[in-house]
Amino acid sequence: MSECLFCRIVAGEIPADVVFEDEQVLVFKDINPKAEVHLLAIPKLHVASLNELDTSHDALLAHMMHLLPRIARDQGLENGFRTIINTGAGGGQIVFHLHMHLLGGDRLPGFE
Ligand code: 5GP
Ligand code: ZN
Repeated sequence: MSECLFCRIVAGEIPADVVFEDEQVLVFKDINPKAEVHLLAIPKLHVASLNELDTSHDALLAHMMHLLPRIARDQGLENGFRTIINTGAGGGQIVFHLHMHLLGGDRLPGFE
């Protein structure tokens, strides 16, 4: 059994409120939402953070980036959305499985 929380969500060992899934990517609701819509998009492949990426991940990353606006629209965020990637302890990363926060709607935090 993996010790990585998000790998365990991918494996179905820990429940999550999944809003999108394909062969490479899982998107689910953040358990502690910081905005009206707060999703986490993760690769099913375990990659700890941006620091661990190499060119073998290029297609996967492009796929994830292209998915985000589609998912935001599906969530009713026609007016726009915010993406955040925390990297390393100094960047506020708590779960060391690469994830893109997708936030939108009311109560959008920070960077205004
Ligand atoms: P980080 O600070 O690593 O970028 O963000 C980790 C995010 O994962 C946090 O926003 C936190 O609320 C979320 N999170 C932590 N544990 C769980 C969990 O078990 N399920 C879900 N859905 N989200 C989680
Ligand atoms: Zn993992």
